[in-house]
Amino acid sequence: MAEQKVVVITGASSGIGEATAVLLAQKGHKLVLGARREERLQEIADKISANGGQATFAVTDVTEPDSVNALAELAIKEFGRIDIWMNNAGLMPHSEFIKGRVDDWNQMIDVNLRGVLYGINAALPTMRDQQSGHFINIASVAAHGVHSGGGVYSATKSGVWMISEALRQEEAAAGSNVRVTVVSPGAIATELVDNVTDKETKESLSQYYAKVASAPERVAQAIADAIELPEDTAINEIVMRPSSQS
Ligand code: NDP
Repeated sequence: MAEQKVVVITGASSGIGEATAVLLAQKGHKLVLGARREERLQEIADKISANGGQATFAVTDVTEPDSVNALAELAIKEFGRIDIWMNNAGLMPHSEFIKGRVDDWNQMIDVNLRGVLYGINAALPTMRDQQSGHFINIASVAAHGVHSGGGVYSATKSGVWMISEALRQEEAAAGSNVRVTVVSPGAIATELVDNVTDKETKESLSQYYAKVASAPERVAQAIADAIELPEDTAINEIVMRPSSQS
């Protein structure tokens, strides 16, 4: 079995976060799960425990720094350290600018971008003290290009990419042994499209995802590989798509 690590995951109540939690727990790691939906977190933690794994959770809103700090404190209280912090919570309510969905724009900025910063802020001091740690920041292929309707989402995800690269350089210069991996997936079958608010956009995205999307377990597997690499080396970015996604 791999070395047991303490893994904190935001957005752990569904999709990529849930799949990663389940896989890493199977591999013997200790999970600390955060998201807003308590029942879902409870179900996932119970499932992990029933399979012999270890998991705890806290209702967490990544748009609130205090809430994110409390998740970090839970990890320390329960398991004594933070080895991996996965900034995963995110949403993708695409729409064209002319529709003026200001609330959606702000929510993407708050969750996808500010939430990542709050996560780094909550975990980095502990990792510096430990002289060891690993951030897994979930960006997207949308960090590398943009399409009509996806301007704000791509801006947040390219922001995640930039933040991650600066963090990597700072921690390398500090000699802190804190690693950074940005994961940029293509279409993955999760609840992401369910939460698109613009009706037309949601319909076309649903059709597209039904045709090409692959399972969140594939992303979980790639993350597990990045985690298992010896600490002297980091996979800094994973760009992955379903084989049929152009
Ligand atoms: P899901 O919608 O299944 O998961 C999103 C997660 O984010 C949920 O657990 C949700 O939990 C959580 N979340 C949303 N808002 C908040 C908040 N304010 N505070 C805490 N948690 C929050 O989608 P995915 O699994 O696909 O998304 C995970 C990440 O992957 C996102 O960053 C997304 O942008 C990225 N991604 C997804 C791709 C895809 O095709 N699916 C492709 C590329 C990147 P809750 O509602 O309980 O709070």
